[in-house]
Amino acid sequence: MRQVIIIGSGPAGFTAAIYAARANLEPLLIASSVEVGGELMNTTEVENFPGFPEGIQGPELMAKLQEQAEKFGTEVLYDDVVSLELDGPVKKVILGSGAEHEAASVIYATGSAYRKLGVEGEDRLSGHGVSWCATCDGFFFRERTIAVVGGGDSAMEEATFLTRFASKVYVIHRKDSLRASKIMQERAFANEKIEFVWNSEVEEILGEAETTGVRLRSTVDGSLSDLALDGLFIAIGNDPRTHLVHGKLDLTPEGTIWVDGRSSRTSQRGVFAAGDVIDPTYRQAITAAGTGTIAALDAEHFLADLADGAPLAEPAAV
Ligand code: NDP
Repeated sequence: MRQVIIIGSGPAGFTAAIYAARANLEPLLIASSVEVGGELMNTTEVENFPGFPEGIQGPELMAKLQEQAEKFGTEVLYDDVVSLELDGPVKKVILGSGAEHEAASVIYATGSAYRKLGVEGEDRLSGHGVSWCATCDGFFFRERTIAVVGGGDSAMEEATFLTRFASKVYVIHRKDSLRASKIMQERAFANEKIEFVWNSEVEEILGEAETTGVRLRSTVDGSLSDLALDGLFIAIGNDPRTHLVHGKLDLTPEGTIWVDGRSSRTSQRGVFAAGDVIDPTYRQAITAAGTGTIAALDAEHFLADLADGAPLAEPAAV
């Protein structure tokens, strides 16, 4: 049986692994079979992670975090967790391959998943002009006309990045002002290839086999209009990935995993959570890394108390 299993391979998971490994806990980190590295794998230049004044590419930062975790003895497994048994002193982690791993503690750092618009055509045209990842799919839209939906940092980052390929990038936003940080807004406003479509919601994505455009509804007067496009990138935020722990861990009204105060302790003894899955507010790589640290330290203390045979505090009620 392991001392600790970490689920998730974003900044929270790998930082927890670095700390746990340096505490000689020999962590096993389940990194998923396809999406190793989390959200930063879909980003380009990361300019706000302390210690990198020149900026660093998201995937490169994740590769460095993994290297650092492995250097101290983290074992990384590329598989998907399909179910969890979290009650009782022995936690069980069941993987897609059928393998089952046991541990005295679990750090849950599964991050968040792209939000969908929930409109007609979205699922059908996904991969046929509809995408959630500019760095993955931008290349396919060389000299094409595309749009990005959203008004946050992700939408500005994607739109700016996509101008490397596309001849024209619309940003469709449901309000008349952006939520994105000032610097990202200014970069987008200054880009000649970007045109803003304000006060508009996507009502439907048009096209049979390939995306041909969107039907927009004005949030001011409800009027409908069509915009011809070759592709649509959806960047409207993320939702915490909690489906594996529904009914097993308490959640907050925002849908994130409940943790006890400033700790990473969840409602289940021996289970700790970190990163975007507990954070509805800040959701930065560096804050995820910070909560990963907290989770590793909390797990370390929990395991030390277990080894001492000390009575364990019950988590406080939600
Ligand atoms: P946000 O939640 O910040 O923004 C989501 C945007 O999508 C908002 O403008 C929102 O509109 C809009 N939206 C949400 N739902 C819908 C919908 N159903 N239809 C239409 N529009 C919708 O998410 P982000 O992914 O942009 O950012 C998440 C976090 O990651 C933030 O903290 C951000 O700062 C950070 N980030 C930082 C980056 C960087 O610094 N390099 C890069 C990318 C992200 P409304 O404004 O009306 O609510």
